[in-house]
Amino acid sequence: MKIAVIGTGYVGLVSGTCFAAWGHEVVCVDKNAQKIDGLERGIVPIYEPGLDELVERNSAAGRLSFTCNLAEALAGASVVFIAVGTPPRAGHGDADLSFVYMAARELAPLIDDGAVVVVKSTVPVGTGDVVQKIIGAARQTGTFSVASNPEFLREGVAISDFLEPDRVVIGVEDERGRKVLMELYGAPLEARRTPIVVTQRRTSELIKYAANAFLATKITFINELADLCEQVGSNVSELALGMGLDKRIGTSFLNAGPGYGGSCFPKDTMALLRTAQDYGVAVRIVEETVTANEARKRRMALKVVDALDGDVEGRTIAVLGLTFKPDTDDMRDAPSVPLIETLQRFGATIRAHDPVGMDNASRILSDVEFFDDAYECARNADAVVVITEWDSIRKLDLARLKKTMRQAVLIDLRNAFEQGVAEEIGFRVSAIGRSTTA
Ligand code: NAD
Repeated sequence: MKIAVIGTGYVGLVSGTCFAAWGHEVVCVDKNAQKIDGLERGIVPIYEPGLDELVERNSAAGRLSFTCNLAEALAGASVVFIAVGTPPRAGHGDADLSFVYMAARELAPLIDDGAVVVVKSTVPVGTGDVVQKIIGAARQTGTFSVASNPEFLREGVAISDFLEPDRVVIGVEDERGRKVLMELYGAPLEARRTPIVVTQRRTSELIKYAANAFLATKITFINELADLCEQVGSNVSELALGMGLDKRIGTSFLNAGPGYGGSCFPKDTMALLRTAQDYGVAVRIVEETVTANEARKRRMALKVVDALDGDVEGRTIAVLGLTFKPDTDDMRDAPSVPLIETLQRFGATIRAHDPVGMDNASRILSDVEFFDDAYECARNADAVVVITEWDSIRKLDLARLKKTMRQAVLIDLRNAFEQGVAEEIGFRVSAIGRSTTA
């Protein structure tokens, strides 16, 4: 099958490369010429473990290519994925669909008859109907199909998530769309008996938001319980384990922390709220989740201030981990940003280290000194704040870290270090959901 993927970002590039790995001929197209130039020379523009090698292998095999030329990408393609961004609309919170609609307008006159256009971007319910109308304005009804196939991959483990998903969701309105998507996913996932949920397009679109809102709620639930643990002298990690081992609950997404961030949960929960408002439906749990998470992110700076005896003016704070989670370079809506900016407003000087996120972080943050080496970052600091639990950060030699610091204060917002470990070395520690010595 020839597949065209429009948008070569985290989702488009991973999906396209994985389709090629399944043996299809894939052309990835993007408007960003720099990205495409790099990819043509084997330079992968994002950090995603295993992706460089998979791109290289499939490009070398002649199954995967990159272009800025949409007509070239679409010629002969029986499936066209739209995987462009759907960022929050500034000041509104609903999804900005201009990139999706632009892609639909551009592809409409260029697709082959019989092509199935699949919206993979996360889009509000009803977007597929609009895409259908846009293409229908340029093409005869019945000569094309529009389907929904939301993506559930997680950055950092995107390739295994794509190749071995828990499930695939397909939203179709006609037999051609169903047949083509079943052919695409059915065979490679058959051996793993991966469930494929085939539903209407509108249900498929909503499934993605429902799933993300549920996960965001689960995180927020454990974060609130963490606050309670701190007050009553319990330990949230053990609480989460004791709860999560109940199969009805599950242990994942029960790691208390500084509040969820990233390119999906904040924008998708907000977009779901906007949809519910538009249709006059109350989704109060999601509403509370959004409010509680925003408040929590703001409170994290106060946790640092508390650990430094109520004042950070003139203090030097070393931040370890900047990306919204480990194993990605993605800084979109990372909790580190409001935290650092608030500490700067309170008068602190910020030094920061992240294994791969510093380039992206330097485009967002000002007046931060970046360090490739975590120990150098902590030199003469009054406190170290762990915001992202990269493996390399978890494995730091805390005794060595302490020696470089002006005073041994650790604010561990990810519980990256087991209770007692840093305390034994002489740190004053403030962590999440357990008793504090700072
Ligand atoms: P991204 O910003 O990394 O990539 C989007 C790409 O689309 C960019 O390279 C941009 O240049 C390109 N683009 C925009 N308009 C174009 C056009 N008309 N023609 C060609 N290229 C165009 O975005 P992303 O993180 O890959 O997310 C894409 C979609 O997938 C979003 O809707 C997002 O919500 C969803 N999603 C993302 C993730 C994730 O972890 N990042 C997971 C699941 C779903």
